[in-house]
Amino acid sequence: MAVSDHVDLPTFLAGVRKRNPGQPEFVQAVQEVAEDVFDYIADKAVYHEYQILRRIAEPDRVVSFRVCWEDDRGNIRLQRGWRVQNNNAIGPYKGGIRFHASVTESVLKFLAFEQTFKNALTGLPMGGAKGGANFNPKGKSDHEIMRFCQSFMTELYRHVGADVDVPAGDIGVGPREIGYMFGQYKRITNSFTGVLTGKGVEYGGSPIRTEATGYGVAYFLADMFRTRGWDLDGKVAAVSGAGNVALHAAEKLTQLGARVVTLSDSTGFVHDRKGLDAEKLAWLKEHKAGKRASLAGYVAAFPDAEFCPDRRPWGVECDVAVPCATQNELGGDDARELLRNGCVAVVEGANMPCTLEAVHLFKEAGILYAPGKAANAGGVAVSGLEISQNATRRPWTPQQVEDELVKIMARIHDQCAEHGERFGTGRIDYVRGANIAGFKRVADAMLAFGVV
Ligand code: GLU
Repeated sequence: MAVSDHVDLPTFLAGVRKRNPGQPEFVQAVQEVAEDVFDYIADKAVYHEYQILRRIAEPDRVVSFRVCWEDDRGNIRLQRGWRVQNNNAIGPYKGGIRFHASVTESVLKFLAFEQTFKNALTGLPMGGAKGGANFNPKGKSDHEIMRFCQSFMTELYRHVGADVDVPAGDIGVGPREIGYMFGQYKRITNSFTGVLTGKGVEYGGSPIRTEATGYGVAYFLADMFRTRGWDLDGKVAAVSGAGNVALHAAEKLTQLGARVVTLSDSTGFVHDRKGLDAEKLAWLKEHKAGKRASLAGYVAAFPDAEFCPDRRPWGVECDVAVPCATQNELGGDDARELLRNGCVAVVEGANMPCTLEAVHLFKEAGILYAPGKAANAGGVAVSGLEISQNATRRPWTPQQVEDELVKIMARIHDQCAEHGERFGTGRIDYVRGANIAGFKRVADAMLAFGVV
């Protein structure tokens, strides 16, 4: 087939839109990747001939199922659950489970697609998947959460397995939910295997898994800064979110010398000009992770800070923005405001937190900008290390795991640099680098398998 016969980018994207009606998040994620990959494969006929990108952008399967459970008042409740298995060319499917009211098939398809590239970047043998349910854990009792998790796993167990698909946590799914799901899987299958990651350390979890995503984000930012001869000392960071990723990114950024001045949740954001410290972070972990209470309470404990209800932190003057909440939380206007205020770097702790418009603005401005699939890959990377520990039945020490995490983040950074360096400028386009490096690994494996 001649190169000139291939469809162009607009035609390809029109096809994606047509095949996935009503799925804007999925289309957005594919578009972001396709913009770079089309350029890269323009002179590589084999990838066109074997329709590699189109095949990666068509999940291997989407399983959708009913999840029935009983609330504490005896009402029968109904949710929809999914597992999207996007691609297993380089290893068993791998990716988190999200419980949130905003979960739809589109959201999970975008996340599974992104996960495929992210997991490839880690260098570990993991394919891409994502799952979840439109279940809102807020205000649910512990027993309601347990019954929901058990019901969810009662269907999911037939689609997953240590060599098949290894889920983990994501928004709304932490160690407690993983514990309930693991317990149910073990009970149904009568087997103790590494079917989930993010487990408690006492039953096969890896040290540092909880911290890994946030820590990795901070390490990645430090690697980016090094390319410009900068360090993080005294740099002002605006972080959004107040969950696992945000709190651990804030913790490591603080340890590396930055001043973290914001955190946010669905009720608003906290502006603490003095910056977070170990004491404030310990309070936050207890207050947020433990009780899931509103950030508004922060001001009572630390009266120097200000709480700004119903707003996000992107209007605050900062050197670095670290969106760690959720998809599309930072739009074009936010990006313009950050740039006007002198922000020099944006590093994504969440998955796809910046809209396409914001991404284009950051790229045009030439600031340091790292997409989640590179910067937040530390979480799934340590999940990969958990799989290794389970397979060999030999736990590692926290230091061993963190040392490996640092190396993996540096390797991801190097791959972005290798494929994303703009000629002659020494500047790195991290989006392009991550997309091409991730694509190449998965694509070359797919080519080896022929048409399957
Ligand atoms: N949910 C996390 C992510 O977005 C982690 C997935 C995993 O550990 O499998 O990468």
